[in-house]
Amino acid sequence: MSGLQIGFNKPYTSGKEFEYIAEAVSSKHLSGNGKFTKACQEYLAKKYGFHKCLLTTSCTDALEMAAILINIQPGDEVIMPSYTFVSTANAFVLFGAKIVFVDSGEENPNIDAGRLEQLITKKTKAIVAVHYAGIACDMDTIMDIAERHNLFVIEDAAQAIDSFHTGKNGKKALGSIGHLAAFSFHETKNIISGEGGMLVVNDTRFEKRSEIIWEKGTNRCSFYRNEVDKYGWVDIGSSFLPSEITAAFLLAQLEAIEDIQATRKKHWERYYTGLNNLNDIFRVPYVPPYATNNAHMFYLVCKDLNTRSGIIQKLRSAEIHTVFHYQSLHKSPYYLEKHDGRPLPWSDLYSDTVLRLPMFYELMETEIDRIIENIGLIKNKL
Ligand SMILES: *Cc1c(COP(=O)(O)O)cnc(C)c1O
Repeated sequence: MSGLQIGFNKPYTSGKEFEYIAEAVSSKHLSGNGKFTKACQEYLAKKYGFHKCLLTTSCTDALEMAAILINIQPGDEVIMPSYTFVSTANAFVLFGAKIVFVDSGEENPNIDAGRLEQLITKKTKAIVAVHYAGIACDMDTIMDIAERHNLFVIEDAAQAIDSFHTGKNGKKALGSIGHLAAFSFHETKNIISGEGGMLVVNDTRFEKRSEIIWEKGTNRCSFYRNEVDKYGWVDIGSSFLPSEITAAFLLAQLEAIEDIQATRKKHWERYYTGLNNLNDIFRVPYVPPYATNNAHMFYLVCKDLNTRSGIIQKLRSAEIHTVFHYQSLHKSPYYLEKHDGRPLPWSDLYSDTVLRLPMFYELMETEIDRIIENIGLIKNKL
């Protein structure tokens, strides 16, 4: 949308989306939880070892479902990074939670698991692990702390489709490790449906209730399975289901996932090879040995804010659109006064220095080379 020659993002379509949407329309089942919804949920559960999947209209919705499921009450504390998207925190704040922000690590913007335990109090209910850029948090440490303190772990896996963590339980897909996980299919993610998301329920205790919350607080899912002879209002909930039109679009994307991922990873590797050690005004992403790269994002961590602004400007004049990312939530207009005042220097550093490069399926090798070349020219000329 920038009007520049090389834009930042371009949503991918395989072409099959239209066929599946036409099929959904002619089937006369347009509301949620139909054939396409079930196909997407089964596909993802089987491929990634998720216990139960429920499509939602966004990752934001899936996070709100998680807050309801763990029964967030006013005053409950939820620990999460400050360097994340608004929804990660807002979903819990809606139900009265107090957010306790933990700083990012030195190596990458994920939470520094070593700083978690000192933040736990009697009121702590959950830890939200955000896998920034689809690169896993230190899940062994996080799960171990949660287990010892009887806390829930919710993975904000919005960016983390098709990425993995290798730990003491072997290699596991992100989203299959925490008690609950939330994915996004927003058009800026790897797999898209315009707006869309999914709640993953790995802890079987949440299985029944998740369906009720999903269906506006009713037991309609049980009714459809003929387990009850009428359905009614049994709990709180909301309208979290996407329509079959959205699910039809998503299924076409899922069927192309191998190709999408292979192509994005090729782009990512090309950036990495071209930019690693190119100069000392930025560094490239760090992927810990326990994590994989799902090529959601290629970012640079620039030397400082001025360097980043300079690179954005230089690239803009070369018709290349790059963007910065999150601003620390503990300094946001909404939360500044509510935050407990602890400084979070790494979160602030990433707010000032992360620069995201164009990353989308149709990006051409010649375009990536041109981006690398232009970044190479910048050295010492800011
Ligand atoms: C994109 C994103 C979200 C929000 O996803 P929606 O589907 O737009 O609600 C939440 N958390 C993170 C980390 C994200 O990247």
